[in-house]
Amino acid sequence: MVKFDKLTVPAEGKKIEIKGDRLNIPDNPIIPVIEGDGIGRDIMKATRRVLDTAVEKTFNGKKKIVWFDIYAGEAAQAKYGEVLPKDTFEAIKHFIVALKGPLTTPVGGGYRSLNVTLRQVLNLYACVRPVRYFEEVPSPVKHPEKMNVVIYRENTEDVYAGIEWAEGTPEVKKLINWLNKTYKLNIRADSGVGIKPISITGTERLIRKAIKFAIEFGRKSVTMVHKGNIMKYTEGAFRDWGYKLATREFRDHVVTEDELWSQYDGKVPEGKIVIKDRIADSMLQQILTRTDEYDVVATPNLNGDYLSDACAAQVGGLGMAPGANIGDFIGLFEATHGTAPKYTDKDMVNPGSLILSGCMMLEYLDWREAAELIYKAMGETIRQKRVTYDLHRLMEGATKLKTSEYASAIIENMG
Ligand code: NAP
Repeated sequence: MVKFDKLTVPAEGKKIEIKGDRLNIPDNPIIPVIEGDGIGRDIMKATRRVLDTAVEKTFNGKKKIVWFDIYAGEAAQAKYGEVLPKDTFEAIKHFIVALKGPLTTPVGGGYRSLNVTLRQVLNLYACVRPVRYFEEVPSPVKHPEKMNVVIYRENTEDVYAGIEWAEGTPEVKKLINWLNKTYKLNIRADSGVGIKPISITGTERLIRKAIKFAIEFGRKSVTMVHKGNIMKYTEGAFRDWGYKLATREFRDHVVTEDELWSQYDGKVPEGKIVIKDRIADSMLQQILTRTDEYDVVATPNLNGDYLSDACAAQVGGLGMAPGANIGDFIGLFEATHGTAPKYTDKDMVNPGSLILSGCMMLEYLDWREAAELIYKAMGETIRQKRVTYDLHRLMEGATKLKTSEYASAIIENMG
């Protein structure tokens, strides 16, 4: 058992174990939880109540999450004198699956984002963002219900591992001279220069995860989104390596879009997942105009950044968008919005994003029925127009609920 400096592991509950290439989930897994700063307290309380009730109802008390409070951000500063103590990393590494509220990134003072640090140190290379519509949520498009995508965005390379040199510095002058001379280029002397790496390793592990998800959850297609027409050896290579991986490792499960037309007359053979690719600019158009032709998406970092928010906007914005950062086994499930400090402890904000991230966590534990129960109950609550202030101000005839009341309404709708 790992030793913690200032944490006491709950007496009840068992650790999730890794067995071969899968997780072995006990009936009472210990799940570390970071409450988070600002509105974290309110939304985490609401989320834990909703998740606990759904698990209890679904499994008649035979399964239960044993929450284990760990610390980051302001709470960690108070307890440890630092914002991200070693205990926190060790707890997530050891117990494998964790839930996290939003954390403040102090401006200035040489702080790195705590969220980025957690992802990097724990090697959480896939940022996963499911985007689906809940009936009645105000949306800027005519058919928001057509959106049901899961985006796998690469989390460690591309612009996240980008290196830049500022215009006018000795370093950039040296680099430009060398490039112009060695490769007979004509880069302007007053340029800033950036380099972005995309590797086979980073690409394959991301796309493998996306395809495995598509197989496990019976999804229809995996679309690789890239800008390979312009950046052939990074973005274009992402696509090429992706097709190779798909046909090498998942031959029995997949058909490429080319094969679909050359061999199957455009009709998807029973049980096969279509592997296709789209250029990023075209994809941003298609996700609006042919929304339901897209299902699982795998993409390098920057494209994924744009696409995640564009998709979320179509179904009513970021307030309800869940997310997770996942590595080979470790899964850190988190709200995608920030700490909204002006609403701290006001019991006002929408806990939807964190609750839905909790649903992703339940699916990761393979407790899918409990997640389904929450999706249905939350859908029903929104249909009844019982919502928090953010949706209330956009919906006609709605009832405004506090964070805690909204959680209670979801629980009530679990029947
Ligand atoms: P923010 O905390 O996401 O809040 C911006 C606005 O979004 C809020 O004022 C509110 O809008 C709305 N909002 C956010 N969460 C909501 C919720 N649960 N329910 C209803 N409305 C919600 O963004 P920010 O003000 O730019 O950032 C504040 C702090 O959070 C910063 O320190 C930032 O670094 C951090 N942050 C953390 C994460 C993370 O931990 N993953 C992510 C992003 C930002 P209205 O006032 O219009 O109602």
